[in-house]
Amino acid sequence: MLKVAVGGFHHETNTFNPKPTLLKHFHEYRGSEIVEEFRGTNSVLGGFVDSAVSLGLALKPTIYAEAPLVTGLIVREAFEHYRDLLAKEVAEANPDGVLLFLHGSAVADGYESPESEILRCLKEVLGDDVPIVVGCDYHANVSEEWLQHSDAIVAYKTSPHVDMYERGAEACRILRGIIKGEIEPVMEIEKPPILLKGGLMTIVDTPLQVHKSPFFLAVNRARRYERRDDVVNVSVCSGFGDADVPHAGVSVVATTDGKEEIAKEIVEEIGRLLWRLRHGLSPDLVLTPLEEALDTALNLEGGPVILADMGDNPAGGGPADSTFILQALKDYGWPDAALFLKDPEVVAEAVAVGVGGRLETSVGGKTDGMHGSPVRVEGVVETISVGEFYEPLRRRRVRMGRTAVIRCGETEIILTEEPTSQIHPAYFESVGVNPRAKKIVVVKSAHYFRAGFEPLIKPKMILEVDTPGVTNPNPLRFEYKRVRRPIFPLDAL
Ligand SMILES: [Zn+2]
Repeated sequence: MLKVAVGGFHHETNTFNPKPTLLKHFHEYRGSEIVEEFRGTNSVLGGFVDSAVSLGLALKPTIYAEAPLVTGLIVREAFEHYRDLLAKEVAEANPDGVLLFLHGSAVADGYESPESEILRCLKEVLGDDVPIVVGCDYHANVSEEWLQHSDAIVAYKTSPHVDMYERGAEACRILRGIIKGEIEPVMEIEKPPILLKGGLMTIVDTPLQVHKSPFFLAVNRARRYERRDDVVNVSVCSGFGDADVPHAGVSVVATTDGKEEIAKEIVEEIGRLLWRLRHGLSPDLVLTPLEEALDTALNLEGGPVILADMGDNPAGGGPADSTFILQALKDYGWPDAALFLKDPEVVAEAVAVGVGGRLETSVGGKTDGMHGSPVRVEGVVETISVGEFYEPLRRRRVRMGRTAVIRCGETEIILTEEPTSQIHPAYFESVGVNPRAKKIVVVKSAHYFRAGFEPLIKPKMILEVDTPGVTNPNPLRFEYKRVRRPIFPLDAL
């Protein structure tokens, strides 16, 4: 029976977020915990695990570490700890091949590409004959170095991400083919000089959008190439411009069965396509100023209108307590709206006064100086809950910490102990707030929320609100020091 080691390291590092990511911020899953936690979930690891079992491979789960909503620079000891553990446990598994899940846009103190460092270490301990297939996020900052130390790279083809499980299963099939000598993988990469930040990377083509995203066209082209017998996989990654590292930005990776020239042609062709369409990625095409967003929403007949807080997307590095939209709702007299903020202090105050109790307190804006000031609110505690529920999109439990809903006028402010990114209506429903019935639903999410909200609550309109903050999608507002230059849109290309 062929032995396949499974493991991974998941971090999306926003180097503009001043708070470091420490060892204690990581959740780790060891050995059989990986199988128990991820089997059947819509995740790369779920795809790895289920597919390995169904293909009759002997699964050797090692270690998987993630810090999903804490996103500043990873301190050196935390990264080296997991790098060394992964290398040790994968070597001990003595596998015929390795399935590795890497988000792909991590940055650690002393390591600008932690993923290629992990891959290099694994190759060092395993030797070149043991193939490694990587499953990664569409926001991975893939570099040439990744290709040197791995055998195939399979990225998500959707954004909002919904195909993690399929990509995990695909990676597993590719690994099995390589181990059995049925596939002789050859990879090529092209990195057109394009840098994207935040939520301007959606692949979906919905009526709510003005134009088809350039990535929609590029990924379609990739799928078309994959229909060829000699093409194993074509992955298009938007990259993660919130990580200021030399290799940040767009990449196209093609894996063929022994055909170097074909792989090269494919990546060059898709790279050229994205380059030609780069102006379609301009943040100006999508962002709406805050006041205009509120005016539009409140003057529109019916609802709901979703306002996406682009400056504070906790999944991409935001602190989850930005108050710009909260302040605007207060300025507009607390209209019919619902929004989340992380504020453990006020949760404790709400618990102290109890349901039905009145609170006069300052909410949000407590993490750093970049996401607005605390907002003075007077309200009634509507509900208090443990803040746990099942999220159907990823098919995983979400733990928000204790959660209190405070009502001010017609606005329901949902306060959590932990940072959350509301990618699905279930976040609101779990605390008794019906997002379908609201005029305005605010989400701290850049694009992922579309997968859950569009089909389920059928919003009248979605506005990407141009709020300040570390995840604001306009790279021109940030001071880059490390990314390679020249690069679009920082330079006039
Ligand atoms: Zn992503």
